[in-house]
Amino acid sequence: MIEVVSASRCIRCDICVRVCPADVFAKDAEGMPVIARQDDCQTCFLCEIYCPTDALFVAEAADGPIGITEHEAEARDLFGVYARALGWSRGRAGGSQHDTTRHLRVAQV
Ligand code: SF4
Ligand code: SF4
Repeated sequence: MIEVVSASRCIRCDICVRVCPADVFAKDAEGMPVIARQDDCQTCFLCEIYCPTDALFVAEAADGPIGITEHEAEARDLFGVYARALGWSRGRAGGSQHDTTRHLRVAQV
């Protein structure tokens, strides 16, 4: 479930608002996304994956919010952690280069 939007990381690009299939976000007067309908979150991770600045944290727990704060998420390096694990990077260092299964394929040849 979507847990936190980081005010310090967010560049107000509006992408998370547009990609969310459940219309979870609203925007405040400054264009900052706010979690307006958290119970509607489908835990699909799309917002976190598409955020260009890793300003979002979606927790794996889908039954309800875990109540984490922005400070806690920052301290545990959780912003964008799912996107990094996928290797979804758009110009940044991704994670797919750490996939070692190609060595197994070479060994089988
Ligand atoms: S995880 Fe999916 S449903 Fe939940 S806020 Fe992000 S895009 Fe919307
Ligand atoms: S996608 Fe990220 S940077 Fe863009 S508005 Fe949403 S939280 Fe902010």
